[in-house]
Amino acid sequence: MRLPSDTIRYIIQFLLGEGNEHLVPRISYGESDNPSVRMVIVPSRFFDDDIYLTVHSLPNLPLKKVEQTPLLYGTGEQERGSDGRLRIHADLVASSWFLLTRYEELMARSTSFDEHGRFIGKSSFAYKAGILDTPLIDRYGVLLRSWLRSCTEEAVSEPKPSYAAVNLTTDLDAPFFCRSIRSLVREILRATPLRKGSGYPLIALRSILGNVQNDPYFTFPILRDLRFQLQQFLSGECTVRQWLFIRSCLPHTKDCLYDRPQYSLHEGDLQYVLDYCRNQDIRIGLHVSYSAAGNATHLTRELSELQKEVSYPIQDIRYHYLRLPSRFSSEMTQAFAESGITDEWSPAYADVGGFRLGTSRPVRLMDPNDGMLHSLTLHPLTVMDCTMSDPAYMHLREEEALGYIERLAHSVRTHHGELNLLIHNHTLASPPALARMPNNYHRRLLRSLPRTLTGTSD
Ligand SMILES: [Zn+2]
Repeated sequence: MRLPSDTIRYIIQFLLGEGNEHLVPRISYGESDNPSVRMVIVPSRFFDDDIYLTVHSLPNLPLKKVEQTPLLYGTGEQERGSDGRLRIHADLVASSWFLLTRYEELMARSTSFDEHGRFIGKSSFAYKAGILDTPLIDRYGVLLRSWLRSCTEEAVSEPKPSYAAVNLTTDLDAPFFCRSIRSLVREILRATPLRKGSGYPLIALRSILGNVQNDPYFTFPILRDLRFQLQQFLSGECTVRQWLFIRSCLPHTKDCLYDRPQYSLHEGDLQYVLDYCRNQDIRIGLHVSYSAAGNATHLTRELSELQKEVSYPIQDIRYHYLRLPSRFSSEMTQAFAESGITDEWSPAYADVGGFRLGTSRPVRLMDPNDGMLHSLTLHPLTVMDCTMSDPAYMHLREEEALGYIERLAHSVRTHHGELNLLIHNHTLASPPALARMPNNYHRRLLRSLPRTLTGTSD
């Protein structure tokens, strides 16, 4: 496969990072006659037609290293030509391509996908190689900039260790604990010995009789307060934003078990949530339904339904269940472009956290089939709440989860990346048992987050 030149330029620019755009012409992927080139990245055979998309293209374990950094393709060898040009055999373009495009998913067996069609993080190459918790591509940037300094007099900028942004995001899977007679009946039935007494009829009754903001799942103010606290700690460093990704429960979602509970954007309680977002500067994105994940027509219908309610264009989406397709069809990328979707916030594995795209920074979508560079920006999701706590996923204890977030956040901050956390509103319910998820310590965990994320101590 021959990578288009604008895609190669984009990857080199992405590796070099902000402020180094003028240095892109100094680096060539493959030999070049251009005298302004100061560094040549010697391609491995990864993109060769007899290798690409065959089993021979997959990286081998254990990984080679260059200056302590694992390398997927190429070697650590370097040569300096008589013309002063540096030739590096570390194929940073192919190594980045593998991670940024989720190349392995195109070739994976069906057993590497779960029942929801999601690629399983624990079956990924990065997990097996022990590099999933490392934003490897950001480290390649550090290497590339240091090598470039040795062969050019021009200034090479190094990103300041700081967050580029912090985003506290919520997916509105279950807006309310109990706002209908049906939910009240559900709790009454659950309270019977037959259902092991797991219902909460009194809390449900209080909720249905009270205002919507008293519903146990109306926990948006907790995240708003966390946002204010973080913003105070990080003032001058970055902006802290809060997001709510909302589903449009249209008829095509009605029969899908995983698109329940269904909720209507027109009814009063949801309108209250929308007003709350408006008044509290909470950004809104579309939470693409389970049913619409692979269907461009359904997805755009959901988008226009949500836009009608909020009365402004929605540009951001995240897939319910993080059902990010392994490859976006041309029909889908066209639908994104035509409907004004510019940003996608799903890239993370459900079963394990870390850097699924190999980077902590937002990156444009590239197609591993044809090498095309698309305008859609992918925002790496650092970690989701239930990924850490769910016994089927990482099953971390509370203190382990805190340490885990701290390590990931440190890597993000080191490389001027974006810290994107997903905390569901229902996981913050009080008492935690109302969320009906095991090992639910997230409300307590949140209290430690400001100091953990900012590296400040008492
Ligand atoms: Zn969801």
